[in-house]
Amino acid sequence: MAPCTPHLCEHPQMTAGRQDQGGPTEGGTRVRRSRSDFGGVAGNLALLAALPIGTAYLYFCARFNDGRLLPGPQADLGAFAESLAPGWETAAVTLAWLAFQALLQAFAPGPTVEGTPLEDGTRLRYRMNGRSSLLITAVAFAAGVGSGLFPLRWIYDHFGELISVVALFSYGFAFFLLIYGRATEPARQPRSVIVDYFLGAARHPRIPPVTGFDLKVFFEARPGLIGWMLVNCSFAAVQIERHGSLSTAMAVVCALQFAYVLDYFWHEPAILTTLDIQHENFGWMLVFGDLVWVPMTYTLQAHYLIDHAPELPIWAAALCVFLGLAGVTLFRLSNLQKHRFRCNSNGLLIWGQPAEFIETRHGNRLLVSGFWGWSRHSNYLGDWLLGLAWSLPCGFGSPLPYFYPIYAAFLLLHRERRDHRRCAAKYGEDWDRYCRRVRWRIVPGLY
Ligand code: NDP
Repeated sequence: MAPCTPHLCEHPQMTAGRQDQGGPTEGGTRVRRSRSDFGGVAGNLALLAALPIGTAYLYFCARFNDGRLLPGPQADLGAFAESLAPGWETAAVTLAWLAFQALLQAFAPGPTVEGTPLEDGTRLRYRMNGRSSLLITAVAFAAGVGSGLFPLRWIYDHFGELISVVALFSYGFAFFLLIYGRATEPARQPRSVIVDYFLGAARHPRIPPVTGFDLKVFFEARPGLIGWMLVNCSFAAVQIERHGSLSTAMAVVCALQFAYVLDYFWHEPAILTTLDIQHENFGWMLVFGDLVWVPMTYTLQAHYLIDHAPELPIWAAALCVFLGLAGVTLFRLSNLQKHRFRCNSNGLLIWGQPAEFIETRHGNRLLVSGFWGWSRHSNYLGDWLLGLAWSLPCGFGSPLPYFYPIYAAFLLLHRERRDHRRCAAKYGEDWDRYCRRVRWRIVPGLY
């Protein structure tokens, strides 16, 4: 969960009110998966090409175009193209990073918890060892940097290559997921190869199936989310090297983003009741989103700030921190309310009162008190406010650092609509009742 994990979280939807011909069930109601949420085959193909190009373009703007959005005389296209050429060293470091994080997920200490019930009523078990994995990674990274084995600026120096290498890995790995998903979850309604490649053919791919290593949870959180922090560290180090000190803006951006990631690991089990884990298949879009999009584009602010030092008075920094903390608090508390409610609604108190909910014929209960009485997705609002807070320290010299809040606004609005359609199909009249009771979609009083 963005973290729930922040990423290109997109998934196949259930089409409202349509009967399935062999598709997955939602609590007994057969619903058909929509192929058109991302434009069907044509849309999927377009996104397969556009998202990596978009990532590279943002890198170009930050590094080779003086932080501007449109190419001008300052643009150094030659250096940009050269920096993208993948090298063996970068490929080896990427594979070592993935292997290290996989070993941590498999063996680092942490409690094991059960996920929400699957369609057949069984539950998968998950090892929640994100905190210890993060800690071990931080110690290993510090040791690598301190011993001179891994120069802090290595990530900065190889950033273009990393985009290419990890994007190529995503294309290859999604192919594996397609084959593996079709082989291990064959009961699902067959779809176009392109759609299955893009959105995934399996909901819970594990090696070995059911009891083994959970690929989706791994990619959702570990290499990309922790990698995001390391990229920020590298960019901050380059700023210090180049300009002699860390700017206030860089410190605020890195601190707020660190708070977001730390919050995820602190409340890791909450990811198990999110859309991504419960309802999304696992394919190229999530792999690319988790491995490339998050660490390469969510670091745009820190990238921009290396050579741009906007005046950030202490009161402005304090305001950004305040807005960010308000955002992350709303994000976390609302997600936790739903997570705890979904784990055990009996006797649950919310803000000192017994939780209020709507009973549905499906069997699930829908929470209507606490933040879930304010709007149907206060968690999205908190997420967006935090993203705005970590962009504002960059000042107003370029729209580039605002890419994230603009993109997140579209992502979350689109996501809310898709979730609404899926829930309307799943809960029918009970969902209508819920919507009448909780009128606002995301922003209470406004939307
Ligand atoms: P939610 O965690 O809000 O989960 C939605 C699901 O919760 C619904 O499909 C439904 O599932 C259930 N649900 C909905 N309403 C209720 C209710 N009133 N009571 C009980 N259950 C309910 O959505 P997401 O997974 O999209 O988001 C999780 C977090 O991740 C959010 O905070 C979001 O901001 C963040 N995120 C961030 C992204 C980023 O890149 N920045 C990208 C994506 C997410 P069911 O069918 O089980 O009833």
